Amino acid sequence: MVVFAAETITDPANRTHAKVHELFFVFRGRGMIYAIGNDSKRKKATPAGVGTCPHCSSVMVPKCGDINIWHWAHKSTKGCDAWRESETDWHRQWKSIVPSERAEVTISNFGQRHRADIITSKGVVVELQHSAISTADIAEREAFYGDMIWVFDISDCLQKRWIGNYGGVDYFDNRFQLHNKGNYYTFRWKHPRKHIAYTTKPTFLDFGDINIFRLRRMYPDAPCGGWGNLLRRYKFIERLKAA
Ligand SMILES: [Zn+2]
Repeated sequence: MVVFAAETITDPANRTHAKVHELFFVFRGRGMIYAIGNDSKRKKATPAGVGTCPHCSSVMVPKCGDINIWHWAHKSTKGCDAWRESETDWHRQWKSIVPSERAEVTISNFGQRHRADIITSKGVVVELQHSAISTADIAEREAFYGDMIWVFDISDCLQKRWIGNYGGVDYFDNRFQLHNKGNYYTFRWKHPRKHIAYTTKPTFLDFGDINIFRLRRMYPDAPCGGWGNLLRRYKFIERLKAA
């Protein structure tokens, strides 16, 4: 199991960020990190493990290869929770930072059941979103979960990244640029994930390196831009654990 080693990086213009990215976000797969074992307890996947899905109770099979984080996959390809997209190691990294009872938690509301990615000790749902989502689905999830935050994986929008100051641009990429304005950052985003502009709950963009962007305002029409704050991944994780 790989941990969020990015927490230990303190050099602001660190030259290892490309490596960090490589470590954490290139691996893709499907599945969940926890299943219910014969002893009715949540457990991580092991090569000979046997388990069922905590949400839909169907049979899970362990996936313990060399590339992806060890995880469980539904034996039947029939979906479990329609809201759940194909899981990636990006999801599993995030879910691994909280205790097992706070990841992949089924929540019942309004006669529906959905599996939250993470729920904090104070009951805040953390919705991890890797792929595109419609504005209708955003509104539906916000209504269902109530107290929640969004974390969007936008690491694929920053493929040529440099951290540092380049002619006034602090975070440069051919698709995404951040400009340091002192206590906040403005951004320009070419080919933006427009749907992200329609969230109403606290929204964070995961660049896939040492920083997380707290999105305050996003204007989806071209030229897309907005503003927000940059915070260190380890700080965000500290807050998440304490929340
Ligand atoms: Zn299931």
